[in-house]
Amino acid sequence: MKLILLGAPGAGKGTQATKIAERYGIVHISTGDIFRANIKNGTEIGLLAKSYTDSGKLVPDEVTVAIVKDRLTWDDCKNGYLLDGFPRNLYQAEALDTFANIDGVVNINIDPNLLMDRLCGRRVCRECGESYHVSTLNGVTTCARCGGELYQRKDDNPETVGERLAVYNEQTAPLIDYYGKKGLILNFTGSEAPADVLFGEIVKVLDKLQ
Ligand code: ADP
Ligand code: ZN
Repeated sequence: MKLILLGAPGAGKGTQATKIAERYGIVHISTGDIFRANIKNGTEIGLLAKSYTDSGKLVPDEVTVAIVKDRLTWDDCKNGYLLDGFPRNLYQAEALDTFANIDGVVNINIDPNLLMDRLCGRRVCRECGESYHVSTLNGVTTCARCGGELYQRKDDNPETVGERLAVYNEQTAPLIDYYGKKGLILNFTGSEAPADVLFGEIVKVLDKLQ
């Protein structure tokens, strides 16, 4: 199964992506994770990407598309994959069409008023990537799942979040229509439901798609 995960920053894509990939035995490909790993390791791509990710702007399309195009040729993609954070604009979507055949687009809708607080209060596990919110951590600084250290992403600050949300609204949201016209959009509501309830809804639909 070849899937795309769409949704605003803070919609809970990462959490759902991990669960979906595990359940269907497909590989989770997050362009944001790829950029963060490159920045951490000081690679050429990392050096280039840093100023964009720090300010919430999109890394140039040629770079991003080339990374994904190459990634999809790896052996682990044979069973399928879930793209998380890609494509993020029309150019990337059209490029993807030239080298991939997508089966479905999981679109997580969420009340936009929740996003700023969700993102600015988010803490992420350095080891397994699990997300938490400060309001429920009660001062705990380690991951309940794996014991890893929790940290705040550099781009989870009010100014950068504002830019990320603007970029989403202007450039990424039009993809809902793009994939809608192709009959590929699968809509879900992520606002109030706990992550495992939302996952249950997604599974019901994806099981039929398999
Ligand atoms: P979120 O969805 O929470 O904003 P991501 O982890 O998906 O965060 O992305 C973090 C940053 O990485 C983005 O703000 C952007 O700078 C860069 N990035 C990720 N995916 C793409 C992409 N497909 N095209 C361009 N830039 C990207
Ligand atoms: Zn963890």
